Amino acid sequence: MSALVAPGTTLAALQRQPLLDPVDNRILLCHALGITRTALITQSDRALTADEAARLSTLIQRRLDGEPVAYLVGRREFYGLDFSVGPAVLIPRPETELLVELALERLPPRGRVLDMGTGSGAIAVALAHTRPDAQVTALDVSADALDVARRNAQLNGANVRFLHSDWYSAVAGQTFDLIVSNPPYIAAGDRHLSEGDLRFEPQGALTDHADGLSALRTIVAGAPAHLAPQGWLLMEHGYDQSNAVQHLLAARGYADVQSWHDLAGIARVTGGRAGDGCER
Ligand code: GLN
Repeated sequence: MSALVAPGTTLAALQRQPLLDPVDNRILLCHALGITRTALITQSDRALTADEAARLSTLIQRRLDGEPVAYLVGRREFYGLDFSVGPAVLIPRPETELLVELALERLPPRGRVLDMGTGSGAIAVALAHTRPDAQVTALDVSADALDVARRNAQLNGANVRFLHSDWYSAVAGQTFDLIVSNPPYIAAGDRHLSEGDLRFEPQGALTDHADGLSALRTIVAGAPAHLAPQGWLLMEHGYDQSNAVQHLLAARGYADVQSWHDLAGIARVTGGRAGDGCER
């Protein structure tokens, strides 16, 4: 395979006619050369060494083959914090910041919050970092994901208790003021699973291998036994699932059932409060 980038090519030339989307190109250039975005401009005459050209060529080829930029560079920003990411975890999405904001609005002082299926730890770490007084618990069924999440808590100085758990199994008898989750909600066979970045992400974090609602059903069914009176359950879901999730909550007797829209105008988070009507 001929190298995509020749040694001696300048930073200026690499940015004039990028082989990739310009933003991806900039991120991979900085990563391959270990330089900042500012340096791309101030050192635009700099010419690549043979090593740098080879490193960059490999990254560009992998990107052209579809690998997500976040996995290529091993990090992604979420809620203003830096997260380490790899193929064991879903790449944090900007729309999930809505869930963090709604949770922060509902978290009482020194509140206890549970993040179910934490993955990279994005939600739990953002909450614990913003509210050091909170008692944040995060669980996941994937031990590999928990390793990543623990690293992210450490990287961001966030105090989070991590549990290896198949949904509620490790929190029997424990109560929280708030439960949040961004569970796998893509239905089995959905074409998005075989397109773009999703092809490289852990299938178990994306799909329930069923109708897309099975994880959401499990969370809704189990939450009343783990929520303080009036405690909120907030869940992210797919673009067309808000009605179905509202129904799940209403059928279980939750109060104040409602959905909130993300920045793209899509009903993205649905929640309700464990009320007297909830079966425990
Ligand atoms: N929001 C992701 C997507 O559709 C899916 C995340 C999830 O299943 N929790 O790309």
